[in-house]
Amino acid sequence: MKVIKVGGGCLKQSRTIEEIVGLMAARGRGQVFVVSALNGITDLLLNGMTAALEDEASIPRLVETIRTRHHQVARRIVVGQTRRNAYDRDLGDGLSRLERFFYGLNFTRETTPRLTDVISSYGERLSAQLLTTALRSRGLDAAYRLPHEIGLVTDGKFGDATADLKQTARNFQRHLAPVLTAEGILILPGFFGAGPTGDITTFGRGGSDYAAAVAAVALEAEVLEIWKDTQGFMSADPRMVPEAELIPVLSYEEAAELAYFGARILHPRTVEPVRRRKMKIFIRNTLAPDAPGSEIRARSPRSGPVIKSVAHDCDIGILKVHASGVGARPGILAQVASAVAEHGINIKSVVTSQTCISLLLASHDLAGARDALVRIRPRPYRKTEMLKDVALIGIVGDGIQNQPGVAARCFSAVADCGVNVEMISFGPSKAALYFLVRKKELERGVNAIHSTFFSTPRCHRPPQPE
Ligand code: ASP
Ligand code: MG
Repeated sequence: MKVIKVGGGCLKQSRTIEEIVGLMAARGRGQVFVVSALNGITDLLLNGMTAALEDEASIPRLVETIRTRHHQVARRIVVGQTRRNAYDRDLGDGLSRLERFFYGLNFTRETTPRLTDVISSYGERLSAQLLTTALRSRGLDAAYRLPHEIGLVTDGKFGDATADLKQTARNFQRHLAPVLTAEGILILPGFFGAGPTGDITTFGRGGSDYAAAVAAVALEAEVLEIWKDTQGFMSADPRMVPEAELIPVLSYEEAAELAYFGARILHPRTVEPVRRRKMKIFIRNTLAPDAPGSEIRARSPRSGPVIKSVAHDCDIGILKVHASGVGARPGILAQVASAVAEHGINIKSVVTSQTCISLLLASHDLAGARDALVRIRPRPYRKTEMLKDVALIGIVGDGIQNQPGVAARCFSAVADCGVNVEMISFGPSKAALYFLVRKKELERGVNAIHSTFFSTPRCHRPPQPE
């Protein structure tokens, strides 16, 4: 049995959703699907919370928007008027529950992490219900189950939960074994589970990939397939590097590093549950379902390009904290990091020297992090400085940190085209090397490195025995 994740990017216009339903019908018998919300619905729900806090009248408008979206898709994908009418009633039931949460929010004038997670889980609940109805209306034996009713147990951390794999596996075997038949199609909403106290907890934005990995491990699936509207992992972002190629095979380590970058092919934590079981992940393009896509497994092939990908991220900034003797002052790093963390700001990476701590942050977190530091008393640093005009380049490939000359080739490629490297970070991963350049030089830098490692004649290592 396979667990197949259907991404929100594939669930966009009615016509594409109809094609997805066709694919599910043709290839889904005996399989388990984990589905995302229809494209844009999670954003609508989250933004709707802000609007509902301020203005009660926004609530019925929002619910109508969500109803219309699902109703219109249903008109296209659910076969038969009677079925469509029944679907509209089921949709109405779900929406009136959702509506009550919004009114509760408006009444209490407070958004809590608990409420945010319950409300944002509705996108996946509604899409699972819709896709199941569509398949049933075509005479298929489809059913859906809600994660909290079949025991997808998490650690209870709102907005960033982690699944309890052992417990979930036990629960899934018990609740789902009877539903899994050779002909049956089982659909599960992705994105959330329930904490020890039964509260709905989500896995963070994009978390349906992770939910699918958890389901795959809990059900001991043969493989995990991720259906997306893209080819798979690429050797660079094709919008920046036209010669970018598909990466046919990559390791868990490489995929985990690449997951952090722009294209957001996978939720960064997806490989966590599957790697211990050595379960393979296949990325499949729903626009070309028979194309090979990318395969993620324990080891990369020994032959092939030295590096797998030249990735980049523009949504970053650096907060420099100047302080003398950083390396000799116990606790200063912890003090800085905890002040930032207390503000709910995530630090992507830290690089320190004897005179400076550089925090790598998402662009929108820069000012908040600086404000957090200004409040520390007594002040443990001399001054702070924000660098907004930077972008991150990541070179990813198994073992590149142990391979002599890779970093040198990369930096001379960059230097040869006149791009200055602002900061270098050898992270703890053996599969990645990161550095920063000025934003306006990013495109030049990425292309220079890509053509060094990928242009013809191709920069292949000689094939070695496996
Ligand atoms: N619907 C959720 C989101 O947009 C989860 C997902 O699609 O993976 O973040
Ligand atoms: Mg999504």
